[in-house]
Amino acid sequence: MQVTYANAFVVPLFFNLVGIFACWLYYAIRARPPREGIRAKIYRCEKCEHVYLDKRDAALANCPRCGTLNEAIKR
Ligand SMILES: [Zn+2]
Repeated sequence: MQVTYANAFVVPLFFNLVGIFACWLYYAIRARPPREGIRAKIYRCEKCEHVYLDKRDAALANCPRCGTLNEAIKR
């Protein structure tokens, strides 16, 4: 391979960009939020004591048994 003025800059730059891309990919995968099932909030009905999950991440959710609005249990 002939070492030209352009190659002396383009080749190291290419490997640096590949390295930066690999780091970005690594941290992007690591920073992903956990699965939906883990993020679901737990609710306990004040009226009928029914315990249920809601994946919508809302402060209040209707009880599937009696329809009462309940606050999420903090964990
Ligand atoms: Zn209920």
